[in-house]
Amino acid sequence: MKDEYVTFTIGKQKHIALIAHDNEKPKLIEWCRKNYDVLKEHQLYGTGTTARLIADKTGLTIKGYNSGPLGGDQQIGAKIVEGVIDFVVFFSDPLTAQPHDPDVKALMRIAQVYDIPMAINKATADFMIRSEFMNAEYDHEVMNFKKNVEQRAESM
Ligand code: PGA
Repeated sequence: MKDEYVTFTIGKQKHIALIAHDNEKPKLIEWCRKNYDVLKEHQLYGTGTTARLIADKTGLTIKGYNSGPLGGDQQIGAKIVEGVIDFVVFFSDPLTAQPHDPDVKALMRIAQVYDIPMAINKATADFMIRSEFMNAEYDHEVMNFKKNVEQRAESM
């Protein structure tokens, strides 16, 4: 039972993914401006258009992946799996149908599997960015995938 989980550490410097659907982009840009001093201490990543707008409008340094509808959310999910991204702020639009809704769900699911802090609205993002853990290491338990594969392979 004990080795079914492994302890991972989210470092003091976070690797933060910033994503917003089109109607929510102005809100996320404003949030980034407001939290510039905190965000500049961390490594930032984002889906293509969101990252480009944040860089242009706030001056923050941010690595852009593909645009969300073209696979950007999936790229960010993959980086969570690889242990690169460990914090997500995603201002998703609850009132507009998205062509890439399955990708959005997949990203949320993988953040759950890897126990990654993920804000899906501004209030949660505000609480997260003021958390004492923003300035400290944070240990969390993540499923032991090596063990999981061993057990699954043995059972088949
Ligand atoms: P975008 O993608 O930043 O390229 O607009 C975001 C999304 O729709 O998931």
